Amino acid sequence: MSGGDKLDFEIRPNPAPVSAADRAALLANPGFGRVFTDHMVTIRYADGKGWYDARVEARAPIPMDPASAVLHYAQEIFEGMKAYRADDGGVTMFRPYANAARFNTSAARMAMPALPEETFVDSLHRLIEIDREWIPENEDASLYLRPFMFASEVFLGVRPANEYLYLVIASPAGAYFAGGVKPVTVWVSPDYTRAGPGGTGAAKCGGNYAASLAAQAQAIENGCDQVVFLDAVERKYVDELGGMNVFFVYDDGTVATPPLTGTILPGITRESVIALAEAAGHRVEERPVTFAEWQADAASGRLREVFACGTAAVVTPIGRVRFPDGEFAVGGGEPGTVTMALRQQLVDIQRGKAADPDNWVH
Ligand code: PMP
Repeated sequence: MSGGDKLDFEIRPNPAPVSAADRAALLANPGFGRVFTDHMVTIRYADGKGWYDARVEARAPIPMDPASAVLHYAQEIFEGMKAYRADDGGVTMFRPYANAARFNTSAARMAMPALPEETFVDSLHRLIEIDREWIPENEDASLYLRPFMFASEVFLGVRPANEYLYLVIASPAGAYFAGGVKPVTVWVSPDYTRAGPGGTGAAKCGGNYAASLAAQAQAIENGCDQVVFLDAVERKYVDELGGMNVFFVYDDGTVATPPLTGTILPGITRESVIALAEAAGHRVEERPVTFAEWQADAASGRLREVFACGTAAVVTPIGRVRFPDGEFAVGGGEPGTVTMALRQQLVDIQRGKAADPDNWVH
């Protein structure tokens, strides 16, 4: 494909899809990330040829040469987003062009080719269209979409590969908070950081998550749900959580969130929350917040609420903060009113139940 030409998809329906009865049983309680739909999208790339061979085909293992570059040097990026079943029977996606743009920013950082945004969004459409029956009916459930790209060239030299494979798979996901929204406890990692200046923190690459696993395991060992990463240089500033961005709500209505300086992922939920908070009359500051400040302001009561946000759980209250030397609560450990209002607003927009002034819903 060259320039703005549209890539045609070859559709090869799965000859042996999951039966309607089996699918219904799987959709009754899908959990997260274990149940998959009948199809996948694949598109190939080669230097000099560009993107080619776009297909929607039966989901199946992908044969891989042991010398495929990704297995050695981790040249891989991904995205994560959800499709919802709207009340009118239609299907909605939330800001897919924002994911497309972030995919290409990640690609540039990892020295990978850009995928035209139209092709990215078109690939999601194609998969949703053919696997539409896999979108759960349940109010809080969704179809999680996972576009990703990796270096498929068979070569052990350390340099950007000249062949790539782009895929999209889809996985029905149950409600994140089955029994109602519950504040989480977070673990502030004393040992591990996630990303340094000039590193890959702002890219959604698999390597960032590999590097976070030991810290996340430590969080779990300490009875926490998620890890909080501090900055890698001074170990003083709050960066983000393992898979979510973080916001602070003060008693004067000010909302603060760490700035995008290259070490945190520019969350699409983060950007949306900033817009919604500003529209609701909050002053929003993108500024560094230290862990010491978090602790002191929670103790004085100036800090009323802290929440995390991301595609998975939308907006999640943080009730308690644990670290090697102790533990403290924020807002009495209960979900705050600003947190819950922002959460509801975002959920309603995503589900097509509220006005959508910025046309986020697709
Ligand atoms: N930070 C990290 C490290 C993440 O993995 C995610 C989830 N993609 C986020 C923040 C939130 O990003 P988004 O709102 O786009 O899901």
